[in-house]
Amino acid sequence: MKTMKLSLMEILACPMCKSYPLDLDVFLEQDEIVEGIIHCQNCNRWYPIIDEIPYMLPDELRDGKDDIPFLKKWRAQFPQKILDSGVPFNATSLEA
Ligand SMILES: [Zn+2]
Repeated sequence: MKTMKLSLMEILACPMCKSYPLDLDVFLEQDEIVEGIIHCQNCNRWYPIIDEIPYMLPDELRDGKDDIPFLKKWRAQFPQKILDSGVPFNATSLEA
């Protein structure tokens, strides 16, 4: 299972800038990765993994409805770089 996930990461590209490979940060893992983020080093975008499902959506389909609560929930475990300047949401999105 782990092997399958790693090979999935190898073929995933950022929907916005098409860069790859992407970084994976796992916040909660059971048999599967339950919650975490996929992070693009190139454009500093992050994509949430919620209930084992990675949401690799372009900016125009992200309104913050799911992203902001997710960011709030896992804030302590988000990489500092994303909190500072992550796209399309970061720590300043929580103050709005
Ligand atoms: Zn990117």
